[in-house]
Amino acid sequence: MAQIHELSETLTNQIAAGEVIERPASVVKELVENAIDAGSTRIRIDFVDAGLKQIIVQDNGSGIASDQIDLAFTRHATSKINNEHDLFNVATLGFRGEALASIAAVAHVDILTSTKGDIGTHASFSGGVKKSQEEASARKGTQVIVKDLFYNTPARLKYLRSPRTEIMKIVDIVNRIALGYPQISITLANNGRVLLRTAGNGNLQQTVANVYGRHIAEKMLPFKKADNDFEVSGLLSKPELTRSTRNFISILLNGRYIRNFKLASAVMDGYGSRLAAKHYPVAVIAIHVDPLLVDVNVHPTKREVRLSKEKALSRLITSAVSEALVNNIEQQSDAFSN
Ligand code: ADP
Ligand code: MG
Repeated sequence: MAQIHELSETLTNQIAAGEVIERPASVVKELVENAIDAGSTRIRIDFVDAGLKQIIVQDNGSGIASDQIDLAFTRHATSKINNEHDLFNVATLGFRGEALASIAAVAHVDILTSTKGDIGTHASFSGGVKKSQEEASARKGTQVIVKDLFYNTPARLKYLRSPRTEIMKIVDIVNRIALGYPQISITLANNGRVLLRTAGNGNLQQTVANVYGRHIAEKMLPFKKADNDFEVSGLLSKPELTRSTRNFISILLNGRYIRNFKLASAVMDGYGSRLAAKHYPVAVIAIHVDPLLVDVNVHPTKREVRLSKEKALSRLITSAVSEALVNNIEQQSDAFSN
């Protein structure tokens, strides 16, 4: 048998990239999450050829100091957590320190970044190796340019779906992130054509209008309810507005978009018989909870999380939804009797 040996850093980064960076939409998600963690108020995403030729994410956040660039692209290097306690108390979207290293392992990456008051830095990475770094004038914030994604991993390229599907996945993830952060103005453009622009004024209904259109935003009801552990709030479609899939239910846990079948079902339960079979609502469910009750470290992409007291949360969501719908009916009948 061959000798056991440690794999090179380039190779381990490529292996890790397989988990975190599945497709162009994963790059967009990771870069936009970094922009949010950096405290940005404006984020612009541009992509070309379904993200395979180029993805650019520009933010106005904290920027990265020139002497931190190498670390930013090193796997398991992060500014977001320090110790074990922090790992179970994650308040940022990122914390694994994997995204930039993974993206740079499977693409050509340029970064232009500047912290407040410094000149700015430009650096280039290819196939996991830094090619250059120099001073460059830049506004405060960060621009990451990802070119030729998966150029060195043909198997990954082959596994991708049609450009149309890949674009839909990019749009979907940016829509969900936008719904979780109505206070951030997010712009998404495909080949220069703007697909989404949110106002970023903190108004969720406005954000829903930006994402799904005004005709939908107008049919949404606000709700809010809390127990000792959770606060749930957001917008729900009136029962007359339905969709043919569950995909218009967005669950946002401390801003993070998560997939959770049980919580989506809790929303449906709140509608009860007000929804016909195979009809689904549009809903934005923002859950606020102490990060100590959430384990985000179960899946590399963090799309699935482990929640303490999930049953109690489900009940809270169901009753919040059902109360909002009852109030709506009462308001409507008041309007008739006036
Ligand atoms: P993580 O987000 O898990 O920390 P990443 O690989 O995504 O790991 O990023 C590594 C580090 O680079 C971050 O911890 C952060 O300090 C820095 N960084 C990445 N993107 C940005 C950005 N857009 N603005 C400021 N800092 C950033
Ligand atoms: Mg990150």
